[in-house]
Amino acid sequence: MTKIPYKIYLTEDEMPTQWYNIRSDMKQKPAPLLNPGTGKPLTLEEMEHVFCTELSKQELDNDTKWIEIPEPVMNFYRMFRPSPLVHAEFLEKALDTPAKIFYKFEGNNTSGSHKLNSAIAQAYYAKKQGLKGVTTETGAGQWGTALSMACQYFGLDCKVYMVKCSYEQKPFRREVIRTYGGSIVPSPSNTTSVGRKILAEHPDTTGSLGCAISEAVEIATTTEGYRYVLGSVLNQVLLHQTIIGLETQAALKKYGIKPDVLIACTGGGSNLGGFASPFMGEILRGEANYKIIGAEPASCPSFTRGTYAYDFCDTGMICPLAKMYTIGSQFIPSSNHAGGLRFHGMSPILSELYDQKLFEARAYEQTNVFEAAEIFAKAEGILPAPESSHAIRAAIDEALECKKTGEEKVIVFNLSGTGYFDLYAYKQFNDGTMTDVIPSDEVIREALAKLPKL
Ligand SMILES: *Cc1c(COP(=O)(O)O)cnc(C)c1O
Repeated sequence: MTKIPYKIYLTEDEMPTQWYNIRSDMKQKPAPLLNPGTGKPLTLEEMEHVFCTELSKQELDNDTKWIEIPEPVMNFYRMFRPSPLVHAEFLEKALDTPAKIFYKFEGNNTSGSHKLNSAIAQAYYAKKQGLKGVTTETGAGQWGTALSMACQYFGLDCKVYMVKCSYEQKPFRREVIRTYGGSIVPSPSNTTSVGRKILAEHPDTTGSLGCAISEAVEIATTTEGYRYVLGSVLNQVLLHQTIIGLETQAALKKYGIKPDVLIACTGGGSNLGGFASPFMGEILRGEANYKIIGAEPASCPSFTRGTYAYDFCDTGMICPLAKMYTIGSQFIPSSNHAGGLRFHGMSPILSELYDQKLFEARAYEQTNVFEAAEIFAKAEGILPAPESSHAIRAAIDEALECKKTGEEKVIVFNLSGTGYFDLYAYKQFNDGTMTDVIPSDEVIREALAKLPKL
């Protein structure tokens, strides 16, 4: 066998040129988005009012297996792709495990995350349609950064609603967004009617992703030449993110490595979906079997404690309904929670596959997650994003299990991004002031009681 290098790079010629649509291989398709007014599946015409036309078509396309990556998007990808698949030799040594650990590194661009993979595709389709600009929300800030980078590349205006507590905790993230010409408003704000309503009811709220989404959608649907774009959850986003999994597959194949366990963190599901769906497709087609794990925060546990039901994607209850694992659109994670992944719901594609038991989910407390982040940072020399550190925690736990059993499993995880803008959270961890706030059953029951009645 060829010696495996520390970093496996594909050449540009070996880069995938199509995205993979896992829905084409699903017998039971993900449930459609519903119009909250009529309770009927959203039509293309209704969707085009909110999203770009081509992206709406991708959202509804359950059949086309391979979708060509447009040439201008491929060109942009070459700035930061193919991304390396790293053999985590130093981490293996630090853990003294017989397991083989690999990670796909998606943090090697200024947004510091995988989000740029979809941002550039969405900006491209908006430009092609002749739009003036797009609106969006951002939680931790990676999506807003990625989108402002993508919009300036294609000459589009970019308005970002940023969850208020992140806006305050991450002042430097704002400056990156502004450097790329994006404008940024802390949410909830008084620039929208839904924001004013939420502020009147909860004057002290630190905001939530769901609330920022309501504001961004309101502006997009009431401003000429604008559409709304979303950085996770949607089928189209998972589609664009499959570039991660397809490159991982190609890199593993290049060195004849067969993975046993595949791991990614889950907020709205885009990096798990993008990283794992080419492998999930193999399982669905009966070609292979893998253990796949989604790692989520115990303070926002959509998969492990949620319900599979139709729910709003936003706090303001103006967006379409999605059938997904949810802990309720009115659920707001504790403001002590610093680890990202704050969305109450989950991708409808992943929700359907989770319901079919194609993969498993685990919830981790944030102090446990930051311990894993520290082990990884010391061993591999990259300061991981708190979000990604949930996947690191799961990978380390799997590797430590191998140490007990002596198994030489191949564990591959997605390092979705870096944590250089998350130093406030690292400070809490280093000061020993980080706490784990886990919602009680009652809090979750109350939030689930407000699920829409269909
Ligand atoms: C946004 C983000 C996530 C969570 O979103 P998913 O859609 O679940 O992937 C994870 N890691 C990083 C670095 C992010 O920026």
